Amino acid sequence: MVDTHATTGQAAIRIPSDAGELGDALIPLLSRSSSVGRVTLQCGTGWYGLLIELDAKIASICPGYVIDQVKEKFGTLRFYISPPSVSLLPCCADMTIKQERARDDNEEAGIAFLLERHQAGEEHAEALRITRDYIQMFEDGQDAIYEIIREYEILSGKCCEECGEPGVLSDNGGWYRTLCPECAEG
Ligand SMILES: [Zn+2]
Ligand SMILES: [Zn+2]
Repeated sequence: MVDTHATTGQAAIRIPSDAGELGDALIPLLSRSSSVGRVTLQCGTGWYGLLIELDAKIASICPGYVIDQVKEKFGTLRFYISPPSVSLLPCCADMTIKQERARDDNEEAGIAFLLERHQAGEEHAEALRITRDYIQMFEDGQDAIYEIIREYEILSGKCCEECGEPGVLSDNGGWYRTLCPECAEG
């Protein structure tokens, strides 16, 4: 089962059905701007706690950072991000969606007019100003941000990807996983 939460101007987020009691704590991470439209977690539940911490630490340096991909690779966490981007402004998302739909209905000119009017408006100007501040924060903080990501990649190699208990990174015939003794047996 999938819970959806509507967020303004963005695709509804999806809380993974295996998140359990961490579901609510994952909302800030799942609500971030994503270069692929929606943040998805391509790793085991055992790392969700690490992800929540990691996201909060990055967001304290730059709240508008953009998530490209969150996944497991060779047994450890990969957290790929980008600087904030004007092209991902949530206030424009509705317009972009309407524009795409309008293309089929041959209403493109009307929607282009709406978009233009939106971009001349107060809401857009404010969002643009905030995003430019975020871009500056990212630039100033990126060394610290990438250091934190490296730190959590290392931490993931000591945390069972299945259950979150202390784990060991091991190579099972070229298949790398970080698991606790119990999950490694099961
Ligand atoms: Zn806008
Ligand atoms: Zn385990």
